[in-house]
Amino acid sequence: MYLPDFEYYAPATVNEACELLAKLGPGAKVLAGGTDILSKMKQDQLSLDAVVSIKNFNQLTEIVENDKGDVIIGARVTHNSLIDSPVLQKKYPSICHTAHQMANNQVRNTGTIGGNIVNAVPSADLPPILIALGAQVKLVGTGGERILPLEDFFTGPNESVIKQDEILTEFIIEKQSLTGSNYLKFALRRSGALAVAGVAVAVAMDGNTCTKARIVMGAVAPTPARAKGAEQFLAGKEVTDELLEEVGNRAAAESKPISDIRGSAEYRRDLVGVLTRRALKKAISEGHV
Ligand SMILES: Cc1cc2nc3c(=O)[nH]c(=O)nc-3n(C[C@H](O)[C@H](O)[C@H](O)COP(=O)(O)OP(=O)(O)OC[C@H]3O[C@@H](n4cnc5c(N)ncnc54)[C@H](O)[C@@H]3O)c2cc1C
Repeated sequence: MYLPDFEYYAPATVNEACELLAKLGPGAKVLAGGTDILSKMKQDQLSLDAVVSIKNFNQLTEIVENDKGDVIIGARVTHNSLIDSPVLQKKYPSICHTAHQMANNQVRNTGTIGGNIVNAVPSADLPPILIALGAQVKLVGTGGERILPLEDFFTGPNESVIKQDEILTEFIIEKQSLTGSNYLKFALRRSGALAVAGVAVAVAMDGNTCTKARIVMGAVAPTPARAKGAEQFLAGKEVTDELLEEVGNRAAAESKPISDIRGSAEYRRDLVGVLTRRALKKAISEGHV
């Protein structure tokens, strides 16, 4: 399990990194925390001629709230820094809570939010909660920058719209009127295990009436997927236990799970129903986003 030989670049600026990625072509990839890319190279699952480290881009390690109340999270922020962020603890504790459910301390110290997203693994934990919160991603390439909803980023397992010369630099969560959000995951072990199924929710409540809902399922489709039918069914209604049961059933019916070593499709569908109901209950009752 030794790393093979490869060229290592650590450019000083994002623009320089994009130029390098364009020049080196598909044999080169961005290196962030390395928890995924270096493990794959060691295990002969990935062969690269070069890596372009983004370790010099310190501005990408910040989490800030701007004048408009939008929260900007740099792509190099580690999972443990998400947990410890005073901005997120105040504005979006559900992101801290999600990061806390991921991996183990060692991986959380090195693995980054950007790597978790660009990996595009269907069972990854951060995509569902970030999509539920309406996050957007900024991609910078040699031709300039673009901002798109995270929801539109993923195209399939391990596939996304990011181009060879692009770097994901930040996540933008615009100010919005949500009253609660939450992510629940079911995994086969307590720590370091990927989700068999995961569900993130975000709601806006007016008294006991749900005025807006987003429900995002992980590990039960080729990409993180919104349960739009279930969301529409919930919106505008007074919340009861029976209603949440039905919303869970509808989300389960919208999932498209596969059977694999971690669980059958049927089991995963059942999990979606249970996790949706529980996540909504918690998001509604706890009253913080
Ligand atoms: C033991 C273990 C347990 C784990 N448990 C979990 C878990 O519970 N939940 C979970 O969701 N994940 C888990 N993971 C997966 C992994 O830790 C995360 O996906 C991590 O966030 C990857 O981030 P990284 O910075 O290490 O990425 P890297 O390995 O550096 O990169 C991953 C991929 O993203 C690309 N990339 C990284 N950053 C950028 C960027 N800014 N712009 C463009 N491309 C970029 C790289 O080129 C590469 O293709 C686990 C991994 C391990 C080893």
